[in-house]
Amino acid sequence: MLLIIGFGRRKKRDRGEVVQVRCPRCSNNVSYRHTHTRTWLTLYFIPVLPYRSERRLECPICSHGVRILRDDVEEIRLGKVDLLARLKEALGAPTRMIS
Ligand SMILES: [Zn+2]
Repeated sequence: MLLIIGFGRRKKRDRGEVVQVRCPRCSNNVSYRHTHTRTWLTLYFIPVLPYRSERRLECPICSHGVRILRDDVEEIRLGKVDLLARLKEALGAPTRMIS
């Protein structure tokens, strides 16, 4: 019997808009989207077991984004997290100091 096992099949789900912000990479005013990507082990090309999970906030135009935790989404919606600073940090740009 021949087993056909595969690794690395990715499924990305869009969980909707979270917050409007000016993207630091493409400079468009966009609604960053919450995405959840799972990487699966496949058996005969059918996904059977997820072994990696990643949640991100992404720009719908240029796909720039940051990794987030599940609980971060609500805090970002409520404005408790400085999302722009995290996005700039992910881009490698220096964040503005507030004195
Ligand atoms: Zn962008």
